[in-house]
Amino acid sequence: MGIQKGSVVYKLIQRGFFPIVLIATPSMIYGLIEAGYSVAVATYTTVVGLGGLFWLAEWLVPYRREWNKPQGDVSNDLISGTVAYVILPIFLKPLYIALLAGATAWLTVQAGGSLWPSDWPLVAQLILMLVLGDAGRYWGHRLAHEFPFLWRFHAVHHSATRLWWWNATRQHPVDKAWFTFTEMLFPVLLGADGVVLSMYLGVTAVCGYSQHCNIHLKLGKLYWFFNVVELHRWHHSKEIAQSNNNYGNNLIIYDRLFGSYYHPERQDILDDNGESKQLGQIGLLNPDYPKSYFGQLRAPFVSGLDKQQAEPQQGLR
Ligand SMILES: [Zn+2]
Repeated sequence: MGIQKGSVVYKLIQRGFFPIVLIATPSMIYGLIEAGYSVAVATYTTVVGLGGLFWLAEWLVPYRREWNKPQGDVSNDLISGTVAYVILPIFLKPLYIALLAGATAWLTVQAGGSLWPSDWPLVAQLILMLVLGDAGRYWGHRLAHEFPFLWRFHAVHHSATRLWWWNATRQHPVDKAWFTFTEMLFPVLLGADGVVLSMYLGVTAVCGYSQHCNIHLKLGKLYWFFNVVELHRWHHSKEIAQSNNNYGNNLIIYDRLFGSYYHPERQDILDDNGESKQLGQIGLLNPDYPKSYFGQLRAPFVSGLDKQQAEPQQGLR
């Protein structure tokens, strides 16, 4: 199964898939909410449908054919995704709003009203949301690589030995809670909520799937803004000097700003043979890291497993 490499249709999917779903997804969520569907139904149905599209494109235009074959990882990814992205958010959202309610109210009083520019066009609000969400999440992710305690939990996400769209959801619940907190910190403090938040989640799903998908996408100049596809594959490299980079959630702007941008294809970094640097193996350094969902769930807490954990990545850039 697959489309002939180099054909017109192949090239169209390579170039057109990401920008089309990037625009269509938040538009679809907005349209469904306007049509009377609840925010939850509009967001989840769109995001699940989007996953189906990515899955199809992985078979039509694969980046590495061997990555389309399960490696005993499907049940782990399915359980992890359900816990981290369906069950956990039910508790996290009200918890974070309650935790930050005092600070949000104080800021609102100081500003003489809501700080969130709800009178802006929705697209402008969405861009602001992306910039603010990534501001906190960039540092949340970077700290998860540089502090051994946080890395214990984040290592679960990096344990994948192949990349496919559903890998985006493989996260330890503690890692997910930390990432969500850092991501939502500034938007919640400023009072963002409702439709723009749902549209933002749609964009985040597009970028999350695009970071991990096994589709041979070409983004060209979009790499100036979005931390997806090639950029995130380098982040999953087994070589720490490569993977301790490209921390952005949706955007690459903070990596460019704070010196963690890494993209050899764009920078024409050559290997010892004088050829463009190619991505090698992905995953953790330690091959004995637990592979099952429940094994990975308890891995950060079991002292005996410490030595079986991937090495902390602090100071090894
Ligand atoms: Zn990471």
